Amino acid sequence: MVLFACRGAFNCLLLAALAGGAFAETKVLQNFNLIDGTGKSVVPNMTMVVVDGRIQSVGPNLRTRVPSGADVIDLTGKFVMPGLINAHGHVGLIKDLEQDPKYYTRANVEQDLRTYASYGVTTVVSLGTDLDAIYPVRNAQRGTRPSMARVYTAGRGFVMRGVNPPALGIRLEVSTITEVNSKIADLAKNKPDFIKFWMDDNFGRAKTITPELTGAIIASGKKRKLPVAAHVVSLQHAKIVVDQGVYALAHSVRDQPVDDALLTAMKQRGVWLLPTITRESAQFMYAEKPAMLNDVFMTQSLSSQTVEALRKPAYVAASQADPDYTRNKSMLDMAERNLRRSFEAGVNIAMGTDSGAVARFPGFAEHWELEMMSDAGLTASQIITIATKNGAQFLHARDLGTIEAGKWADLLVLNRNPLEDIRNTRQIHSVYIAGNKIKSAPPAVR
Ligand SMILES: [Zn+2]
Repeated sequence: MVLFACRGAFNCLLLAALAGGAFAETKVLQNFNLIDGTGKSVVPNMTMVVVDGRIQSVGPNLRTRVPSGADVIDLTGKFVMPGLINAHGHVGLIKDLEQDPKYYTRANVEQDLRTYASYGVTTVVSLGTDLDAIYPVRNAQRGTRPSMARVYTAGRGFVMRGVNPPALGIRLEVSTITEVNSKIADLAKNKPDFIKFWMDDNFGRAKTITPELTGAIIASGKKRKLPVAAHVVSLQHAKIVVDQGVYALAHSVRDQPVDDALLTAMKQRGVWLLPTITRESAQFMYAEKPAMLNDVFMTQSLSSQTVEALRKPAYVAASQADPDYTRNKSMLDMAERNLRRSFEAGVNIAMGTDSGAVARFPGFAEHWELEMMSDAGLTASQIITIATKNGAQFLHARDLGTIEAGKWADLLVLNRNPLEDIRNTRQIHSVYIAGNKIKSAPPAVR
């Protein structure tokens, strides 16, 4: 008998390798229809061999040898696509319909990551509202096979000092370039994956960060090789930050149509757009389409208090009494039109939802976003590529985003074909992260 003592994933792998792969775990998924995330059409009768969580091969049933001793999973009639990547979400902030930094615990962060994963969202970028509890969660995942959604973080994002809504002990307030530089130096110690700032004057009603400070944040990010994502609303602000070299617009421009000058600049500089269309609709949809709250696919991950609160006449009345009620609707319309225009112009687009904020529910929001991208005029195939392959490119994550040999087996297995109707992404059969089947949400009722 040989006894191994190994410490840390790498050493264990090394020992396993020395032992001639004796510890390798092999799973074979058989007889499925493949949607690989690259935009190719569906390929029937496929087999995938997954070894220690990574795809070793994927090909036609007839040409794929099933290794002896493998765990064989029959997926006849199912559709296998890459797990969804949400390039703009938030974790750990919410309890029911309340947002407060006091809820930001490792347990709440992990709960949200499990919820995302259960809906097939296998990777999420938490954009600018993370306290230090995020780092041990993220660090523990890297290089291993996580049992919850993979998380990337921007740590705490930047706002102008005295901003409204207030920073609330989550976001970092700055008012000088010196402050920007010292706070980014501080932030960088934890090696965040991104830097985030908010540039939003609430239609001229509020103070916001100055171009001088956004320029300093972007320059500092560049120096440290940290991509910078900007919350913007207006065309004017989008143009400023794109010219300054921002990596991504974390939302659609939604005060007016995007113009050729912006689209050309974004394309030339490779700036990413994360449309977050559901963000706009979540402002009024529960009031306007209360039937949404009968959708178990949405409500299964919510507490009964949350669902009841959203149904209450007082909540509906408050939504309708919002002075921006009409404007929110026109912003949604504008965001959809601008998404379509940006897509047609060839701008880089990854899926972002801004879920994980109040009434924007992790997991469900991503399926909702896919449907809304379809409403905006994109095809199901284009949408799936945006939500998988493009997300991985946005992250420079070479082993995520498509179903190809060498990549992690992060998979969304569906009962129906999402290329026929994008809402079929809600027909969840199972979800895998790094080859491990995780607890997934039951399929939506049709
Ligand atoms: Zn956000």
